[in-house]
Amino acid sequence: MQLFADASQRLEKALQYVDLPEDALAYLRHPKSSLAVSIPVRMDDGSLRVFQGYRVRYDDTRGPTKGGVRYHPHVSQDEVQSLAFWMTFKCAVLDLPFGGGKGGITLDPKSLSKMELERLSRGYIDAIADFIGPDVDILAPDVYTNPMIMGWMMDQYNVIQRRIERAVVTGKPISMGGSAGRDTATGLGAFMTIDAIAPLLELTPSDTTVAIQGFGNAGSILAVELAKAGYRIVAVSDSQGGIYASQGLDIPSIVHYKDSNRRINAVYCEGSVCSVVEHAIISNEDLLALDVDILIPAALENQITDANAHRIRAKYIFEVANGPISSAADEVLKQNGTLIFPDILVNAGGVTVSYFEWVQNRSGLYWSEAEVYTQLKKRMVRATEEIWQISQQQGISLRTAGYVLALERIGEAISAKGTRDYYVH
Ligand code: NAD
Repeated sequence: MQLFADASQRLEKALQYVDLPEDALAYLRHPKSSLAVSIPVRMDDGSLRVFQGYRVRYDDTRGPTKGGVRYHPHVSQDEVQSLAFWMTFKCAVLDLPFGGGKGGITLDPKSLSKMELERLSRGYIDAIADFIGPDVDILAPDVYTNPMIMGWMMDQYNVIQRRIERAVVTGKPISMGGSAGRDTATGLGAFMTIDAIAPLLELTPSDTTVAIQGFGNAGSILAVELAKAGYRIVAVSDSQGGIYASQGLDIPSIVHYKDSNRRINAVYCEGSVCSVVEHAIISNEDLLALDVDILIPAALENQITDANAHRIRAKYIFEVANGPISSAADEVLKQNGTLIFPDILVNAGGVTVSYFEWVQNRSGLYWSEAEVYTQLKKRMVRATEEIWQISQQQGISLRTAGYVLALERIGEAISAKGTRDYYVH
């Protein structure tokens, strides 16, 4: 099934539990606008390559659309639209004054030199400049995009507009108006959700085993926080595969090794000296099927589908990636008693601190890292508790509860500006 068709099923399911005005439903079944662009780039060898890029604004009832830009070979209109759809609900779950958007370019970023990547990123902004802006659509990092790329994008927008407009892009380097704490926000936000929910699930960190798929920005920061809190992380992986050690992995050492070697390895480091510890090499498929308490997909979408859902043995899944579980797999996991904490809650720390960055850019007053964390924690804990309560009260999954909470907020905003009542009595 196409990703967007699958994503829409979550919306249809939640509609049974919320009294949504007809107008709202009509709006939410379609993206507000979608743009596909061709981006010509002069390569280092003098040749010209044309890349395919996208930007989708799904819904802007609650405010300007907001969402990351992904660089990946699998980027397509369908994927970008699905990600923009999820952003709409995520922003509403966290009660941010934003709608949902997303962008992407189809490419293997590792195959480009840094200068080619810069020309491509600036070319993308040239192509979509009329479509974005601090009060229209705001960009942020996603898979294989980072603060440096966000800085190029903001700079290019400023060149086009002939003025400094920082709030059009978030996730920028701090020296260009970025927020303290943005780089760690997604992993930290996910940790705040787990930390808030652990007592309700009667989880003691030292007795709780964890496997994490994806060791990029979100997955590795979350791993560090979980390790600090005493959780036993027995497996991690990246696009090359995974490592497993039943006694637990030394996460700070793995992060240190990855920073200098660009790959993960089961090491223990003292200072700069690292030695390999006993471990097994496992595939990403095997990692997902490990007998652990908590499984954390933190890579890409559609990792758990009806093809492998029956192999999942984890008691709890916290979705750090966007859309890692298909709707068919949701059903299988539910029958097996796996409790899923949905992406629109768990990975919302990133967009929340992006919101703080936007606020700081517009006010010109910058917050300390401690202030950012305090505000982030307040919002993550509140959203976690709200979704948990709706789920308990209505006897529905946490995912459906998340959509119910978001739909109530979006529905109210659509109704507030609608004129339906004048026509229909
Ligand atoms: P990233 O580029 O920093 O890291 C991605 C990680 O996934 C890397 O370790 C990569 O090796 C691994 N990976 C790629 N393909 C894989 C595969 N087939 N199997 C296993 N691992 C694979 O990206 P990120 O920012 O950490 O994003 C990861 C997920 O979290 C994405 O779904 C993204 O949309 C979501 N997310 C990120 C943020 C954020 O602020 N970074 C916010 C919200 C959601």
